[in-house]
Amino acid sequence: MQKFQAAKYVRLSYADEKDRESNSVINQSQLIDEFLKDKPDIEVVSEKIDDGYSGIIFDRPAFQEMMNDISSGKINCVIVKDLSRLGREYIETGRYLRRIFPAYGVRFIAINDNIDTLKDSNTDDLTMSIKNIMNDSYCRDISVKTRSALETKRNNGNYVGACTVYGYKKDEKNKNHLVIDEYASKIVQDIFRMKIEGISAARIADELNRMGVLSPIKYKKNKGLPHPSGGYADKDNAKWSATTIIRILKDETYTDVLLQGKQNTYNYKLKNLINKPVSEWVRKEDTHEAIVKKHDFDLVQRIMQLDTRTSPNKTNVYLFSGILICGGCGNRMTRKSVPYKGKNYYYYYCPTGKKNGCNSSNMIKESDLIDCVSENLKAYINSIISFEELVNSINAERINKELVNKLMLQIKENEILIEETKKYKAGLYENLVSKNISKEDYTVYKKMYDDDKIRLESAVSELHRELDDVMNNRGENFKWIEHFKKYSDLKEINRKAVIQLIRSVKVFSKNEIQINFNYQLEYEKALSILTENKAVV
Ligand SMILES: [Zn+2]
Repeated sequence: MQKFQAAKYVRLSYADEKDRESNSVINQSQLIDEFLKDKPDIEVVSEKIDDGYSGIIFDRPAFQEMMNDISSGKINCVIVKDLSRLGREYIETGRYLRRIFPAYGVRFIAINDNIDTLKDSNTDDLTMSIKNIMNDSYCRDISVKTRSALETKRNNGNYVGACTVYGYKKDEKNKNHLVIDEYASKIVQDIFRMKIEGISAARIADELNRMGVLSPIKYKKNKGLPHPSGGYADKDNAKWSATTIIRILKDETYTDVLLQGKQNTYNYKLKNLINKPVSEWVRKEDTHEAIVKKHDFDLVQRIMQLDTRTSPNKTNVYLFSGILICGGCGNRMTRKSVPYKGKNYYYYYCPTGKKNGCNSSNMIKESDLIDCVSENLKAYINSIISFEELVNSINAERINKELVNKLMLQIKENEILIEETKKYKAGLYENLVSKNISKEDYTVYKKMYDDDKIRLESAVSELHRELDDVMNNRGENFKWIEHFKKYSDLKEINRKAVIQLIRSVKVFSKNEIQINFNYQLEYEKALSILTENKAVV
């Protein structure tokens, strides 16, 4: 009688079978042992277990080990509970059964499918093929079914994500509907306001951290809301970062738009999520209450474009878009052209009107406004520049000392975080193998750690630069002065100067406007630091 050295092969897929008792590792293994009780010709020499692997992909570690044992002659028999343990994919599974195993003289047994290649040496290929095809289509079916169910929900304007966007929560009466989270929505509004005021994403993040506002992750965790979990995301001191701010500023969800289906497992045979082209996103308007006015959202997108100095030929951003406010009602004023004797004149007016409760029906000529704002802006820039001269005249060391400490602390903190991302990344694979996380999560987290590392490293080098600045020159306390100095020889105001230096222009009447400059708070703060230090010097 021929003797067989067999490998028990056990596969457990994480996603859909983990808690199915019948397919547990122990169960599969026991079933094989039971089967072998009256098979004295088969001696089990190894047991190969792939835990958490799909039957569609063949590059499973234990499966590959088994193939090595086969090619080195250690085993000549493979036993599985059923065919689907070997694989669920028609072409690849078939290749192993019909070509690879026979080529090595391997006896293959799939207990529940009554397949034993020794007994049925003339195995009806067709039967096998059909089984294979069935397994394959089973997989495809599941994949398509899940996707179409989600797509139906998306197309109905239902929210299908597990975690909501910061600022919203799920409606308690309808899990597929978003409602405003009172507190978080205020923070979102603040973030948009600050951006419109010309504050950079990094500084907005600093400001929120300084005020002790919890980062989205931490906030959700604190409130017991669903949140991405595990590893770095779960860190207790996860803070606001420029990346988080930018993600919020770009998220159209805050108007009333629901954008879903941005990613997809394109094909059920692929493991990774694929980003879908924008044109294929499912877009639904008016699905929930807006946190940010469409107008403000658009302005922020334009400002961010200005930030990156993209296309210089973008002309239809008007000088005062978004910052010109009616002194009567607080609404943003609208620009319109008035033709007169073959020429076009531009005016700003309040669109609210008397009917809707605004008594200030004034219109202001754009050219007058430009003159007035230019003059005031230039004067303000000059006062900032003379302030700087004052700063230079006193002992800056003292002012900078505190800032140096702060920067060094931040660098150290970031360096600790970098070490932690490295640690988490190293532990990630272990987690995958010990089935704490799925393959999909593994991919997602690995990318997250990589991104975080890059972000943190660039933050550290930026902080070092700042530290350098402070040590050699003045501190960040006065960095905003640079914004004004850049425009010291400003002749004609432009959109960039307006956005960077002016917070708002309120129009009360043709002859009365009020300009709020950016960094007014910083200016006042700096003045008080200066006077304190003056007293000491
Ligand atoms: Zn008004």
